[in-house]
Formats: sequence, structure tokens, C-alpha cells
Amino acid sequence: MKIILATGNKGKLREFRQMCREEVIPFSDLLGELDIVEDADSFKGNALIKARTIYEKLGAEYIVVSDDSGISVPLLGGEPGIYSARYAGKEASDQENIQKLVAAIQAKGVDRTPAYYTAAIAIVSKYGEYVVHGWMHGEVITEPRGDKGFGYDPMFIPSGYTETLGELDDVIKKAISHRGQALRLAKPIIEMLKRK
Ligand code: IMP
Repeated sequence: MKIILATGNKGKLREFRQMCREEVIPFSDLLGELDIVEDADSFKGNALIKARTIYEKLGAEYIVVSDDSGISVPLLGGEPGIYSARYAGKEASDQENIQKLVAAIQAKGVDRTPAYYTAAIAIVSKYGEYVVHGWMHGEVITEPRGDKGFGYDPMFIPSGYTETLGELDDVIKKAISHRGQALRLAKPIIEMLKRK
């Protein structure tokens, strides 16, 4: 069985490749570009929409793995949350999303505030559907630093660190991140499905 990653996000693809022993094939290599409408009201729901859509197009000999993730800021009522990718608009760049989040935090009169990342990983195969989650807690700051990682990483400082994820090494992010934690739960499920 082949493992297909249901994402078009280059940052996620790079992290999955670093964290998985198996070859990870992005769905676009097999299906080209697809505009999947993620209209669920949770990370779990959107992860399932992505994995089911690709599985239905590819067929039963594939294990499709998707990741739906984002950053939530309690001071902003949980924003941007499931809207993280499109916070500053449908085609927004990481930079535009960061600028909007910085402005929203500054408008509350603070320069740092607690935040957390969530990742939901869905696995869809002929043997059934599975979803696991991972979280990473920390703070967001209004002066982003560093160019490692992707998305909101330059403005996120994980709990227990002083550097942002834009400054910390990939190896550290892999060990503590929401995606790393969810993937550690997903791996035994994928292994089990491969052996069936
Ligand atoms: P999705 O592709 O719809 O799941 O959107 C995920 C979005 O959440 C990304 O485009 C980023 O803006 C944000 N995000 C998720 N995980 C991370 C991460 O590990 N670092 C930084 N931003 C992330």
C-alpha cells in the first residue's frame, strides 16, 4: 500500500518527510492541483474532508494521510484557529497572516500572549478512518524573529524556550511540535494498516 499525503502545503510536506521512514507522496504528484473545500467546524472535520476526498479519487490500494492544523490565541477568542491558513484572506501569504495576527494582538494592548498549535491527522484506508491530535503550547510575540519553519513559526515561542520556532532547530520542532506528537500517534496505526 502506498502512503499519500493529502496536503499542498510545502512546510507540512517537508516536516512529514523528515519525520517518516516511508516515502511520503503528495497527492498533487498523482492528481495535480485540487481545490478541496474545507468547510467543517473543527481541525478533525477538515482533516477528514481532505483525506476522504483524496482517498475517493485514488482508490482502495492507498492509505491517505492528511493534516489539518493551526494556531489559536485565547486572548482573541481562539482566532485564527481553523482559519489559520486563510486568516488574512484566501490566498494570503505566511507574511500577511503574521502581520494580521500581530496587529490583532497589538490592538489588545499587549506584546505577547499565550497561544497553542493544534494538529489533527486523519488516516483513511479501506480498513477504516482514524483521527489523532497533537498540541504545542507557548506564546505569540508581536516582533517575529527567524526564518526557519513556516506559517506563524517566527512569532511563536514554545513553552520552556526563549527562541521562536523561526530560530529553533528543525530537530527541536520535530520533538515538541503538535505535528510531531500527532504523527507519533498516527505511526502505529499506519504500520498496522500496512501489515493488513
Ligand atoms: P491547513 O493547511 O488548512 O491545515 O492550514 C494550516 C495553517 O496553519 C498553515 O498554513 C499555517 O498558517 C498554520 N500552521 C499549521 N501548523 C503550523 C506550524 O507547524 N507552524 C506554523 N504555522 C502552522
